[in-house]
Amino acid sequence: MRLITSSANPVVIGERALSLSYFPRIVISHLRLFFLLWLGTPAPVLALAVQVRPVTPQLGDALDIRIQYQKPDRPDLAPRVEFAGKNYPAFKIQAQQWQVLLPTTPLDTPGKKLLKVTGEGETRNLAVWIKNRFFPTQRLWLSPAVNSLEPTPLELQRVKEFKALQTPERYWQGAFLRPNQGPVTTIFGVRRYYNGEFAEDYYHRGIDYGGALGSPVVAPAGGQVALVGLVAQGFRLHGNTVGLDHGQGVTSIFLHLSRVDVREGEMVKAGQVIGAVGATGISTGPHLHWGLYVHGQSIDPVPWLQGWLP
Ligand SMILES: [Zn+2]
Repeated sequence: MRLITSSANPVVIGERALSLSYFPRIVISHLRLFFLLWLGTPAPVLALAVQVRPVTPQLGDALDIRIQYQKPDRPDLAPRVEFAGKNYPAFKIQAQQWQVLLPTTPLDTPGKKLLKVTGEGETRNLAVWIKNRFFPTQRLWLSPAVNSLEPTPLELQRVKEFKALQTPERYWQGAFLRPNQGPVTTIFGVRRYYNGEFAEDYYHRGIDYGGALGSPVVAPAGGQVALVGLVAQGFRLHGNTVGLDHGQGVTSIFLHLSRVDVREGEMVKAGQVIGAVGATGISTGPHLHWGLYVHGQSIDPVPWLQGWLP
């Protein structure tokens, strides 16, 4: 396509426009549509356009995929999204705008991942490069008694069900709040050796805050209380636990609480007290463990505290 208007008017539509460095690459493939608009024909339906953030993701980041798409006769039909061989749901955030959140973890291999987005008759194949990241390691020596502690089937089952939630509503807005004012004692992603043996499947799935025993734990963002688990019911390893469903596949879990102030089903606002710091379950001392999950995978909460998701 090579369309040049009169020499008096330097506007160029077509290949020459590629040289405009500020032009998003996504737009360039749809110059056909601009041409139709330029001719004054009725605006066509927006084609499938995909944006990936952050621009240079690293292991442990969640990816924020924005898709501009609408099927003319079915405006609520979501585009299909496949990332690294798995399917993920897209949620409509406004007219013709869809969002998909994709988890990456310290256990993933860094490098190129394939992202495939399919709408009615159209497919976009993108390569997303996930940067490697250094995670510190800890060496823990546990007594045989502690080492042999097993979670109960009840806590395993309830936590598994909780992490699988994909509620269509979105309950959070803007940046997350830190859930406790204590200092960070263990960052996300730390790898461990237990009694000298590297734990292949282990990474620290959250952030630990060393708040004082009984200090308040607040909801980092809006959500619905989807899990309350107590030691007395069999939450032997997790301790007293609260799980918040923030919606659209995003969940938060709070462990080792001394006190729980909410009930299952209750809606909570960002900043609302949901419990207090404790040392229940498998815990060497009072601290809060906060895990943030996207579609069941624990991701680094730090960017969310910095408000990278609008
Ligand atoms: Zn922890």
